[in-house]
Amino acid sequence: MVEMDKIVSLCKRRGFIFQSSEIYGGTGSCWDYGPLGVELKNNVKRVWWRDSVQNRADMVGLDSSILMHPRVWKASGHLDHFTDPMVDCRDCKKRFRSDKIEDDIWLHFCAATKGNKFNIPGGEPCKHCGAKRTLCPACGKGELTEPRQFNLMFKTFMGPVEEDAAVAYLRPETAQGIFVNFDNVLQSMRMKLPFGIAQIGKSFRNEITPGNFTFRTREFEQMEIEFFVVPGTDEEWHQRWLDERFAWYPRYGIRKGNLRLREHEPDELAHYAKRTADIEYLFPMGWSELEGVANRTDFDLKQHAEFSGKALDYFDEESKQKIVPYVIEPSAGADRATLAFLVDAYREEQVKGEKRVVLNFHPELAPIKIAVLPLLKKNARIVETAHKLCADLRRRWRSVYDDTASIGRLYRRQDEVGTPFCVTVDVQTVGDDQAAADDKVTIRDRDQMQQVRVALSALPAVMEKLIAGEWAEIYRQHGVTRD
Ligand SMILES: [Zn+2]
Ligand SMILES: [Zn+2]
Repeated sequence: MVEMDKIVSLCKRRGFIFQSSEIYGGTGSCWDYGPLGVELKNNVKRVWWRDSVQNRADMVGLDSSILMHPRVWKASGHLDHFTDPMVDCRDCKKRFRSDKIEDDIWLHFCAATKGNKFNIPGGEPCKHCGAKRTLCPACGKGELTEPRQFNLMFKTFMGPVEEDAAVAYLRPETAQGIFVNFDNVLQSMRMKLPFGIAQIGKSFRNEITPGNFTFRTREFEQMEIEFFVVPGTDEEWHQRWLDERFAWYPRYGIRKGNLRLREHEPDELAHYAKRTADIEYLFPMGWSELEGVANRTDFDLKQHAEFSGKALDYFDEESKQKIVPYVIEPSAGADRATLAFLVDAYREEQVKGEKRVVLNFHPELAPIKIAVLPLLKKNARIVETAHKLCADLRRRWRSVYDDTASIGRLYRRQDEVGTPFCVTVDVQTVGDDQAAADDKVTIRDRDQMQQVRVALSALPAVMEKLIAGEWAEIYRQHGVTRD
């Protein structure tokens, strides 16, 4: 498993992810996706949307607003329950989650050794005096306040006046935008149970302790599905969605051994949930949640019906009765998924005695699909042909042209950002005094570093197959044996 530092450094060096407002010293736990990062993340969202919405007859999409009526958060329980217990240091004013404070390294001024200063691992006593931590772990001197509940929602004001009546919240989850639109979608789209509504969008949580790069941030993007089912069929649908979502990540390259399911313990379940299981990924910091799949029962629809006074139910033709559907919620993080795909794709290999760093992204996720490289940059016909070819390919696939180094270095550069295919234009392609042009180019693949030579006219068709993953056929046609 690669260390997170290596990923962070590659992400910055190659334009995947930058720290937000870096020239001002950075903003705590906020990150900006650079030119390659935004392509990667867009690709993750695109395949999720295609698989969750476009390819299914029982799903529709939605894009609801971030700012919602404040009563939404009363009804959903977020105003009252979406809190973390927190303590403050009376001395240095630092703030800690009281349920996580024992994990922190703590600073200790030890009376048994003339007040010497020690950094002691979380949860352990001082080796010299046996004391356990009672004071602030950061400054080692301040008393801590009693725990207080701290709401994780970002508060703001709508309109020009900063008064209580104008308080609004940045949504802490996209799900509520779906629940409040349940009836709109049901009526306008004539939906029949079971059906789902999917949404991708930003959410905000004022986490006390964000961290681990883009894993836990205060501003993040969710990919959520609320799938409405007839009560009584909810447990079966829950299992189906768990299986479906668990199989989704390996389809785009995540190694199965790096995924596991973790069932929530009864005392860990959210107040609305009947059962929740997390799909966890083995991140560099250990097993952590990639996606949660919850059975939210009829809690949300009932709450919103009660608080809004509008009926949020469904007329069941079979039983001729009104029912309130149950909801299965597969809730994934776009940033977490992007990070997992990055981490999982990272490889260091030895090739001819040299280190090669590769991101072996699935072609559909790769930020750049094709790099067009001229073999001789002083040959005007090669350069012209390569430019024209790149322009043609770019209309369908993200493609780049590069001639700023030797071919070996150009390949390494593309390997490091996960470009699955390099196409080289050489003297044979364009011809010279001795030989006529053969109008063929060489495709080199990132993972096996094998090459096939194909006619320029056939390139778009070949590329289509390669990017869809139909490699074997192309190699067979061109007489290349692969391991
Ligand atoms: Zn302190
Ligand atoms: Zn001590």
